[in-house]
Amino acid sequence: MDDAARADAAERARSMRPALDARGVRLVALTWVDNSGITRTKAVPVDRLDSAAAWGVGASPCFDTFLFNDIGMTSGAVGDLRLHPDLGKLTVLAAQPGWAWAPADRYGQDGAVHPGDQRGLARAAVRRLAERGYTAKAAFEVEWVAGEARDNADGEDFRPAVHGPAYGHARLVSRSDYVRDVAVALADQGVAVDQIHPEYSPGQFEVSVAAADPVGAADDYVLVRETIRAVSHRHGLRASFAPKVVADGVGNGGHVHLSVWDGDHNLYSGGDGRFGLTGKGESFAAGILERLPALLAIGAPSVASYLRLVPQHWAGAFAVWGLENREAALRLVTGPAGSREWAANLEAKCFDQTANPYLLVAALIFAGLAGLAADATLPDPVDVDPALLSDEERQRRGIRRLPGSLNESTAAFAADPVLTDAFGERLTSDVLAVRRGEIEHFAGAAPDEIVAALRWVH
Ligand code: GLU
Ligand code: MG
Repeated sequence: MDDAARADAAERARSMRPALDARGVRLVALTWVDNSGITRTKAVPVDRLDSAAAWGVGASPCFDTFLFNDIGMTSGAVGDLRLHPDLGKLTVLAAQPGWAWAPADRYGQDGAVHPGDQRGLARAAVRRLAERGYTAKAAFEVEWVAGEARDNADGEDFRPAVHGPAYGHARLVSRSDYVRDVAVALADQGVAVDQIHPEYSPGQFEVSVAAADPVGAADDYVLVRETIRAVSHRHGLRASFAPKVVADGVGNGGHVHLSVWDGDHNLYSGGDGRFGLTGKGESFAAGILERLPALLAIGAPSVASYLRLVPQHWAGAFAVWGLENREAALRLVTGPAGSREWAANLEAKCFDQTANPYLLVAALIFAGLAGLAADATLPDPVDVDPALLSDEERQRRGIRRLPGSLNESTAAFAADPVLTDAFGERLTSDVLAVRRGEIEHFAGAAPDEIVAALRWVH
C-alpha cells in the first residue's frame, strides 16, 4: 500500500460518508478471522473511517496464534499490524442499528500484506487460479443451533430454542418471527438467500446463500454468521455454530460448494466425463479428494470437529466422491436437467464452521490447482452409504475413512508440500501451533467437556 493507494482509500471512505450518515451509521466494525476460526474485531467511529482506510487500525500479531480460549501460543507483546477495511464490502448492519461492517485485510507497518493474513492468502489463491485461466465460485452453507440465552457461564447446559420434528414446519411456526428476521436482515444487507429451513437437531436451522467469488463467499460467510448471532440476541436467543452442540446429537456442518469456470463455461457440466464432468473439472476435484486428510486440518480444525465427522451423520466421513451422495466427503451436485450449466458444483461436506473460511477456500483452490497440474483423475464414484458396506467391500473398493482426529489431519497437513508451500512459512507455522495447542488443551478430555468448551465460541 503506497501513498497514492492510501490517499485513494481515504477519499473513497469520505465519499461514502453521506450515505452512511443517512442510514444512521456511527460505528464500523472491522473483522478478520483468526487461525482458530474465530472472528475478531476492532471498531472505529464513522468519523475515523477515512483514517482507517488510509492507515489501518492497529492490531497485535498475537492473534495469529490465539487458541479458542484466547490464550496465545506465542507472545504478542511486540509488533503491530494494520487492519484495513475492504471498503467495497462495507455493509450497513440490519440487526445492529448504528453499525456497519467491513472485512479487513491485515498489512504490516511497511505497507505490505502481512504474511500471516488469511484473507491475503485467499486473494493469492484466486490470483494463482486466474494465472491458469480460471475463476471459481463458492458458497458456504451455514447450519446453526439456536439455544435459549441465559445469564449463566459459558458451557452450561444447553436448551434448544425450538423443538418439533426435524425439517418440521412446526419449528418455523414456533419461531416464525425469528427465522423471518434472519432472512430479512440478510436480504437488507445484500446477501441473496437461496433457502432457509429447520434442520435435523433440536433448535437447528440452516441457511444457504448464493455463490460468489471465493473471497466474497468467505466474506459473506462471516457476515451471515454475525447476522444470525445479532438477530438471535434480539430474540433472546444464542446461536451455536459449533461442530457439535450436544455430544450425541447431529452437528453443524460448514459445507463448501465450489465450481471452477473457464470464462463462462462451468467445468462441472457439459463435459464428456462421468455425470458431465470435464477433464479439467475432474482433475481439480481429484486434487481436492487426494488431499482431504490434510485439508481437514484447515476445514475441520478443532478437536470437536472429529466428534461431528462420523459416518451416518451426513457429515461426509469417507474420503470418496459420489453423485448426490450425502455420505461422501465430496458430493457432486449436478442440479436438475436444464440448470446444470450454471448450477453444477462440488460440495465438500466434511468441513465445519470452526474453519477459517479464507484459509479454506485458499487451501481448496491450491489443492485443485495441484490436481490440474498433475492431470489427476478421480477413482470410481461411490453411490451407496459407505458405512453400509462390509470392511472387505470397502477395502476392495479402496474406500478410506477420513482422519478420526485433529492429530491425524494436522500431521497430514504438516507433511503436505503443496499446501505448506502455498501457505508459506509463517501461516504454516501459525496454523500448526494453533492446532497443536488445541490438541494439547483437550488431551484426555471427554466429548461432553470438549463440546461444552466450544459450544459458544465460534
Ligand atoms: N448437519 C450435517 C453436518 O453435520 C449436514 C446435514 C445436511 O446435509 O444438510 O454436516
Ligand atoms: Mg444441512
